[in-house]
Amino acid sequence: MLNNRYINARTKVLCVIGHPIEHSLSPVMHNAAIKELILDYIYLSFDVPPQDLEKAVLGFKKHDMKGINVTIPHKETIMQYLDQIDPLAEKIGAVNAVKNEGGVLLGRNTDALGAKQALMGAGFKIEGKKALILGAGGAARAISFALSEEIDEIFISNRTEERAIKLAKELQDKTKIKATGKDMSEKTLKTLANSVDILINTTPIGMYPKIEISPISKDLLNENLFIFDIIYNPLQTRLLKDAKEIGSKTLNGLDMFINQGALAFEWWTGKKPNVKLMKAKIIEQLDNK
Ligand code: NAP
Repeated sequence: MLNNRYINARTKVLCVIGHPIEHSLSPVMHNAAIKELILDYIYLSFDVPPQDLEKAVLGFKKHDMKGINVTIPHKETIMQYLDQIDPLAEKIGAVNAVKNEGGVLLGRNTDALGAKQALMGAGFKIEGKKALILGAGGAARAISFALSEEIDEIFISNRTEERAIKLAKELQDKTKIKATGKDMSEKTLKTLANSVDILINTTPIGMYPKIEISPISKDLLNENLFIFDIIYNPLQTRLLKDAKEIGSKTLNGLDMFINQGALAFEWWTGKKPNVKLMKAKIIEQLDNK
């Protein structure tokens, strides 16, 4: 039972799809927001293996699933099954939120604006700065295109150097900023970390359960670097602990996660969710793990 009434035949359904999906925290925050606003919605999760994605999307379209959050590994592959894609998501090459408007599936990327809002909320001024992004996957793409509207220069450093070079080239071709793709060796990181204002980790290094590792050694950090780790489980990664110890300003991935969810929620329902409540519910869930 949600909202002190029973779910009925008119209740509208929202969901998150991914593979695996059982650890997703999206249902917790969305259902908390639905309950508080007394909306006739419910938010579920579905484990969709890659080979079933097309069938799942067609089923959602036909059976009026109102909104879908998309997570690993479907953010890029889902695009081919959608009817319209927002220009920013098209540029990024990834969709993490889908809205079903009467059988027409629309795709957006709310990770991008969610990350930018989180950085601005933490007091980081993007304009005129230089960034080093670790990783060149979906999250790195969303963040680099979001920042490209204001930032001066972006360096992408990735385990697979070709992917970093490819993303940097796309950034140069599609935006006005200067971008360079590099490997993720100690030597490269040492040079780059000293020439930027902000370092953003978009790799899963340091994420639960391997929480003792960091994507960059502590002695390559400096107190003038703003450190943004988009991981939110744990809230304090090894990288953020190291950064705090040397006096850097830091930001974890929780606000980005809440913001991308809140942007999708408002798009689907037309109502602004209570982000403080969503955040409290996620923290409660993480504390109980
Ligand atoms: P993705 O598309 O799979 O990309 C992962 C990136 O990390 C790739 O560049 C990959 O390098 C690199 N990588 C993976 N394992 C590595 C390792 N052991 N050593 C070095 N590099 C490694 O994933 P994603 O969607 O971008 O997500 C990445 C992380 O961000 C995840 O931890 C996810 O939970 C988090 N995330 C957080 C939010 C939020 O709202 N806070 C939103 C989205 C994602 P290669 O190219 O060499 O494979």
